[in-house]
Amino acid sequence: MAYVIDKELCIGCGACADTCPVSAISADDEGKYAIDADSCLSCGACAGGCPADAISEE
Ligand code: SF4
Ligand code: SF4
Repeated sequence: MAYVIDKELCIGCGACADTCPVSAISADDEGKYAIDADSCLSCGACAGGCPADAISEE
């Protein structure tokens, strides 16, 4: 299992990327954030800090 970002809900604040302990979250060229499922530890830290509630466990 891993966490995923709903790009429709994401407002691009970057809080999740700053929170992730393993730097599994990065932005693409359009400023949309995504989680690298191979790196994600499923700790849930990013989801708890997302102001748009855009991160959920898949
Ligand atoms: S914390 Fe939420 S709204 Fe902010 S960049 Fe991450 S997914 Fe998008
Ligand atoms: S669940 Fe944890 S390890 Fe996975 S992307 Fe979010 S903060 Fe990073």
